[in-house]
Amino acid sequence: MYSFKSLHCYNCRAVILNLPELEISKLNGLNFVCDCCGHQNLLTEFKFYKSNNNDPQLNIFSMENLTAF
Ligand SMILES: [Zn+2]
Repeated sequence: MYSFKSLHCYNCRAVILNLPELEISKLNGLNFVCDCCGHQNLLTEFKFYKSNNNDPQLNIFSMENLTAF
């Protein structure tokens, strides 16, 4: 059994990801856009932080992308 963890947007606190810790650890360092407020969140060590990288070519993930895995 994996323990699920909810990760919240740094800006609005909406839940962006709800995944087992094992899965979250694989996503470390990726950027996610909050569906709620549109802010970009950088996943670092099981928490979301404000992303300083505004490169439009950057890979940005959302829950929709993740369903493809
Ligand atoms: Zn948000």
